[in-house]
Amino acid sequence: MKAEIVSIGTELLMGEITDTNATYLTNQLTAFGMKTTHVTQVRDDLDEIVDILSLAWNRSKIIVVTGGLGPTHDDLTRDAIAKLFNEELYRDPNIENHIKQFLSNRTGRTPASINLRQADIIPSAQPILNTAGTAPGLLIQSDGKVLLSLPGVPHEMEKMWQEAGSTIMANANTNLAIKTRTIKTFGLSESAVSDLIPEILSEKDPYTGIYAKPDGIHLRIISMAPSSEEANKKLINIQQAIVHSLKEFIWGWDEDTPAGVLGALLTNKGATIATMESMTGGLIGSTITDVPGSSAYYKGGFITYETQAKTNLGVSQNDIHTYGVVSPQVALSMAKRTIELTNADVGISITGSAGPTAAEKEEPGTYYIGIQYKDKGTAITGTFRSNRLAVKLRATTHAIIETVKLLNSV
Ligand code: ATP
Repeated sequence: MKAEIVSIGTELLMGEITDTNATYLTNQLTAFGMKTTHVTQVRDDLDEIVDILSLAWNRSKIIVVTGGLGPTHDDLTRDAIAKLFNEELYRDPNIENHIKQFLSNRTGRTPASINLRQADIIPSAQPILNTAGTAPGLLIQSDGKVLLSLPGVPHEMEKMWQEAGSTIMANANTNLAIKTRTIKTFGLSESAVSDLIPEILSEKDPYTGIYAKPDGIHLRIISMAPSSEEANKKLINIQQAIVHSLKEFIWGWDEDTPAGVLGALLTNKGATIATMESMTGGLIGSTITDVPGSSAYYKGGFITYETQAKTNLGVSQNDIHTYGVVSPQVALSMAKRTIELTNADVGISITGSAGPTAAEKEEPGTYYIGIQYKDKGTAITGTFRSNRLAVKLRATTHAIIETVKLLNSV
């Protein structure tokens, strides 16, 4: 089924923002078995938007529009949709109430009348509630076609897509059942994964896409068949083949996050964790506490940035002197000391050089992770050449995933 995306906003065509909405949506549409044939960016100009929407409506079954749903005079998507379908806008009282409620909860003030423009809709459209903002989405279904208009702000757009858009797409593709699964790996490059499973990646049905993400290489299987059972069976076959080849690198599935998987494991084991961080400056602790309920297993952490801060907490002075502060021995000593100081079951530590200049003899981007679980300890080396923030984020993800692997192995 042919789909297309229309991204509305002058900022896009002036190079001020990147069209991340289109990237997100093309990925999602593919997962629903749609073939995206066009992605168009158009300025905030009524006639230009109507022209593009009319072209899209004539040539595609599915049109997903983002942006231009805000309250100001240059937000023209509603007007363009009204013009396209030759209908008059009217103000929907339910949406008006939602907007008043949302804005008064957020600001404590009565919304300005301009905000209520966002409650304007045409008779043939169905509004889609925006749980993250004010502008509702709009859904028009006619002649076996779908036009879905979503807000431009990426987190509002993604939330609305997940809450409503994806169901609309699954229903639009009436003749096929679709099953998807994402398998998340860490520790292999995209080309190494491709070398390990070349046949699976060249298979068209089910289709497996490969994506490099900050938390590793993701493999996304899309299986389509006339029945749900059949689609599921095909998916499971491919999934088993991938697990067989990549088992030791897999850390999660579908919506899993490294910190979420770690939290679930600790909860299952009734274990607690604590951190001692040098290079990441508290990012590991911060990431662990992004997970709701983490207070049940995260005891706390130390940020021991300078060498003195490490020795003050009892990290082995001898190891620092003998091996250097950026070394596997010191990482392990930090992890052990974390357990002694906090009584946690697991201690994670990190010492390294985020760059751009080298710390001691180590290359920038080199770090050592120490993990101590009860009497089992390990130190892992990582290297990632990029800017400081990227190195810190990568090292954090690496440390959490290695902890997941260690906990899974005992
Ligand atoms: P809302 O009324 O909920 O604010 P809107 O539909 O009016 O949303 P726009 O005014 O078009 O959205 O865009 C709001 C902001 O969202 C833009 O300034 C930009 O930061 C971001 N944005 C818009 N379109 C895109 C896009 N295609 N990709 C990435 N970001 C976008």
